Amino acid sequence: MEFPVTRMRRMRKSKAIRDIFAETKLNIEDLIYPIFIKKDLKKGEKEEISTMPEEYRYSVDDGVEFLKNLEKKGLKSTIIFGLPSDDEKDSCGSVAYSDNGVVQETIKRIKAETNLICISDVCLCQYTSHGHCGLVDDENGEILNDESLKYLSKVALSHAKAGVDIVAPSDMMDGRIMAIREILDDNGYEDVLIMSYCVKYASNFYYPFRDAANSSPAFGDRKTYQMDPKNSIEAIREAELDLIEGADVLMVKPALAYLDIINMLKTNFNLPIATYNVSGEYSMLKAAIDKGYLTEDAIMETLISIKRAGADLIITHFAKDILDSL
Ligand SMILES: [Zn+2]
Repeated sequence: MEFPVTRMRRMRKSKAIRDIFAETKLNIEDLIYPIFIKKDLKKGEKEEISTMPEEYRYSVDDGVEFLKNLEKKGLKSTIIFGLPSDDEKDSCGSVAYSDNGVVQETIKRIKAETNLICISDVCLCQYTSHGHCGLVDDENGEILNDESLKYLSKVALSHAKAGVDIVAPSDMMDGRIMAIREILDDNGYEDVLIMSYCVKYASNFYYPFRDAANSSPAFGDRKTYQMDPKNSIEAIREAELDLIEGADVLMVKPALAYLDIINMLKTNFNLPIATYNVSGEYSMLKAAIDKGYLTEDAIMETLISIKRAGADLIITHFAKDILDSL
């Protein structure tokens, strides 16, 4: 039937009508709040992140308290990023797998004091003196793939020992999902899930995160291990490999400039798809809202677009801002 019998505006005539016909809904369960925990901070101290308005680096005590408050508002899950002391960093990031490291201590506290699902970022870049996600060949500066797997696996195991629910490797070394699954299973942690940052692009939108986590590489860039933004077929290959190696959840990072990739993974794989609405996406919107160029409604529209593209889970710094409205 054509106009005038068919009138599309009937479906939009009131908020109540629009709400019952909404094709996409954002649920509290969809959101994962990322938090930065810094070892050197004491209780009562928090550092504002200059490039991320209203986001802070917390001490373990204050971070756990902040998460408890978000849990009261309905938050279900969090992902932890740790910042060790500068003098703890070395060439292989060994403090990343210390049983008493900042992430391990935070995991123990979260699991003891809340009912939140606890996810941990597994990487070396915040813990290595050179700031790369894997080990570096001293002679030519190459990022070493196979040598890095042993260390990344140790990090994942130490998080599992601390009680983490899900490990999320973000390093982009080849073969790390298999290596991590093996070490977890060999040590009795068959039930710890792996959320793989399988499609992680070398993106400028990470810039504020590097400020937040003090994780800029000391030399070069990450383009030999993170994906080229020009590529999408390659994303399918990355996802296939991680699926075969034992990933339970596939992740696309960043989100906004890669909605087509989220949709492609959702269409091609029968696994939950997560995405990281990264620091630059957060800061960009916050800055525009602060200047009056946009209103806060842009936040929900953005998150809905990510959900509509096919994301089942969204890691977002906005989680703290929108729990009350869900
Ligand atoms: Zn990294």
